[in-house]
Amino acid sequence: MNSTIIVIIIKLVIAGGLMFFLYKDARARDYSWFMWTFIPVLLIFTPELISTVFTAAIILLMYLMTRPKGELITCPHCGKKVHDVLAFCPHCRQSVKRECLRCHDTVEWEAERCPHCGSMNLTKF
Ligand SMILES: [Zn+2]
Ligand SMILES: [Zn+2]
Repeated sequence: MNSTIIVIIIKLVIAGGLMFFLYKDARARDYSWFMWTFIPVLLIFTPELISTVFTAAIILLMYLMTRPKGELITCPHCGKKVHDVLAFCPHCRQSVKRECLRCHDTVEWEAERCPHCGSMNLTKF
């Protein structure tokens, strides 16, 4: 195995790792995940290993600065990660929030009563 092959393998590992991370995180936030998953492909065409690492760091930084802020919660239906501002799971398209049938406010999935009006009349799914 010569050094050129090793460099290509390292580039593929960096690009693949970044693609995997961006896919999972952007998909959970419902944020242009298709575009972000394919941006790391550019890394394979960088001339030197040092520029591969540098470009990967810039892509990651740009992503972290522009992605929608907030925590990820676990979807009660499919168990995948979902950004907590979303009402529907981007993976299985099912609702991850309940709606209060009295005041029509959005209520967390785990809640048994509406925190706003105290009604227990919430949508079930
Ligand atoms: Zn789901
Ligand atoms: Zn309510």
